[in-house]
Amino acid sequence: MPPTLLSPPATSEEIADYTPMTQVTLPPLKNSGLAPLIGKTQAELVDLFIEMGHPRFRAEQVHHWLYVKCVQSFDEMLNLSKGFRQHLAERFQIGTLQIASKQISEDGTVKYLFQCADGNVIESVLMYFEERGSYALCVSTQVGCAINCSFCATGKMGLKRHLSASEIVEQYVQVQADSGKEIRNVVYMGQGEPLHNYENTVKSLRILNESCEVGMRRITVSTSGLVDHIDKLAEEEMPLTLALSLHAPNNEIRSRIMPINKRWPLETLIPSLERYLASTNRRLTMEYIMIDGINDQPEHAHQLGQLIQHLKCNINLIPYNPIAKDLPRAVDYKRSSNQAIRTFMMILLDRYHKKVTVRLERGVDIDAACGQLANRFQADKEVLPV
Ligand code: SAH
Ligand code: SF4
Repeated sequence: MPPTLLSPPATSEEIADYTPMTQVTLPPLKNSGLAPLIGKTQAELVDLFIEMGHPRFRAEQVHHWLYVKCVQSFDEMLNLSKGFRQHLAERFQIGTLQIASKQISEDGTVKYLFQCADGNVIESVLMYFEERGSYALCVSTQVGCAINCSFCATGKMGLKRHLSASEIVEQYVQVQADSGKEIRNVVYMGQGEPLHNYENTVKSLRILNESCEVGMRRITVSTSGLVDHIDKLAEEEMPLTLALSLHAPNNEIRSRIMPINKRWPLETLIPSLERYLASTNRRLTMEYIMIDGINDQPEHAHQLGQLIQHLKCNINLIPYNPIAKDLPRAVDYKRSSNQAIRTFMMILLDRYHKKVTVRLERGVDIDAACGQLANRFQADKEVLPV
């Protein structure tokens, strides 16, 4: 990514001006400094255990406890001797994330705030889909994000750092353990741009699939459109669902609300999606935020229909979820009216024969949209260090 696209984090004056709405007290930092086992593939665990002089089946047992049973301590690995459990606990830790807070929405959505070993906070959102009777987890891939979309709370933070594959997978393992729910779908739509943290994202996808047994077809990766990495992802032979945050029907609007469009404009993005579809034989999801007066007019629906008519894709309209007005560099956008959303949808359905859904707004009462709680907390933390 060219440096011109990296947004600076908010200045300390901007942060000092910001009044946090959610107060979260962090637990004391628990960082043993030992290497985490979560984040290692089964093959890596086997190599590690053989190197330490243990038989292969020990690695397979530990692998099962880590990713299928989702235990939180070596003491729970009951088919290992006490001595061996102690031996492991002296050399490794299971993972590095601590649950800092948990907010439960009226609609049942649960937002987890995790503290990383270095004190950074990230979030994951557990959602229940009644119609499917199953749970989906939204995971983060970075602390903050460099892409700086104008409508996004995470973008306001700038990028602090990438998450490791271990930290991405551990969100799943911990939520699974804490909630006791069987999480069948995972969406990479939390904080951060998954394809900017490409290697760790891909490794985490493989572990979720091979070790946690989440079907690849039940995983969605959402991207703002990093063309070079979309091409790379197409070669990975992972039949996941790619969701593209398009959000605008032309370069003029897209560059205005998503600076990434200046680096990868539509004339480079659309051909990369064509290549992705040709080599994966999958269907894309086009995400389109509905912002009042910016991108939600009937002429925009027609432009969008013409732009993507030839692509095998469904369209997901997302009513804009207002971010706190007092966030540093916040913009004054409003959610489109239901009437505007309905008209937009009907044009795409009737004239362009696209399958269109409108995203359910989840956890609105707990700010469960992209980056909102962690962002508030991040700002809060700079003022009141713990
Ligand atoms: N960085 C990736 C994935 C994380 S964002 C991406 O941009 O695709 C997940 C989705 O939430 C994206 O479609 C993003 O555009 C959307 N989003 C961000 N801020 C939002 C807001 N305030 N209201 C509604 N959707 C938002
Ligand atoms: Fe980053 Fe996605 Fe937010 Fe854009 S919408 S700033 S890419 S997290």
